[in-house]
Amino acid sequence: MIFSNLNSNFYRKIFLSLLSVFFLVTSLPAQELPQEVVAKPGDGIYLLLKRHGLSANDLKDFIELNRRALGPNNTLISGRKYKLPQAVPSSSSAPADPATPAGETSAGVVRKFEIFGKKYENVTIKNQELKGAIYYLVSGHGGPDPGAIGKYGGHTLSEDEYAYDVTLRLARNLIESGATVYIITRDPNDGIRDESFLKLDKDEVCYPNQTIPLNQLQRLKQRTTAVNNLFLQNRGSFQRMICIHVDARSRGENIDVFFYHDERSKTGSRAASILKNTFLEKYNQHQPNRGYKGTVSHRNLYEVRNSLPVTVYIELGNINHSRDIQRLIIADNRQALANWLTAGLIRDFNTNK
Ligand SMILES: [Zn+2]
Repeated sequence: MIFSNLNSNFYRKIFLSLLSVFFLVTSLPAQELPQEVVAKPGDGIYLLLKRHGLSANDLKDFIELNRRALGPNNTLISGRKYKLPQAVPSSSSAPADPATPAGETSAGVVRKFEIFGKKYENVTIKNQELKGAIYYLVSGHGGPDPGAIGKYGGHTLSEDEYAYDVTLRLARNLIESGATVYIITRDPNDGIRDESFLKLDKDEVCYPNQTIPLNQLQRLKQRTTAVNNLFLQNRGSFQRMICIHVDARSRGENIDVFFYHDERSKTGSRAASILKNTFLEKYNQHQPNRGYKGTVSHRNLYEVRNSLPVTVYIELGNINHSRDIQRLIIADNRQALANWLTAGLIRDFNTNK
């Protein structure tokens, strides 16, 4: 029947168009308004993002969304409302670090790490005391920036070379105890050096292989981002960032080894205190009349403030003070510094894991 055919065609068309509208509507992503959150005192963007399950990958979007509500240098203003961006999936394709003992770390296994140089490249795993712990070791400065410069007996001492040597020794120790270590400031050919006067060079890179910029803020941002990306990939593990520096003060000022943490981080404060107390014990044991005066305090440092892992920032001494210089130019003393830091970090792991 012509009439009823038309009729059914008509209804079929209506039905199909309704159906397509239905599918169109249900297949559209839900248009949610951005969620708003209030910044707490001391919040930085990373901390706020982290608290709400977001990551460093969402930083750009966050700044874009909240441009007008941010303080100078993209600081957060406590009590103010901020919009949260949609989560960006984190990239999972970081290159493997040649200095990271992924996989086999059983006691007795020997692993080769070229970054430690010919003499020290083979590392025997001695024990599993730090099994499961992950360390990001960041020695200060590097590349075009030597850091503080001291003079001693006609030699020029540069902060970045001495901090790097202690950092490599610490890395090697931690690996021996079964930890996973990422060496963030890296020199392709220095390795661990036993001489007193370490030649200044400029070929350090930032993990995995990035040219270090001269601009201080860019440089700090580069290494903090490298660490934060790794932190997010290793989420759920025990993780620490350790920054190692040498200070420069007037000649008369003996500053000892001292420790900084983020003001907001209770764990950072505990970890720094454990390290300091370990130094106190070691000095009492080895140089009982010396009187170690190292301190723990918080300080507003870019790397400490903007890093996701708990961070301890260490000054190994004053590059202009004769006693502090002995701690740096004698290879055995650099090794002792690394050993004491290792002992402290093992305590920190056992206490805070
Ligand atoms: Zn420094």
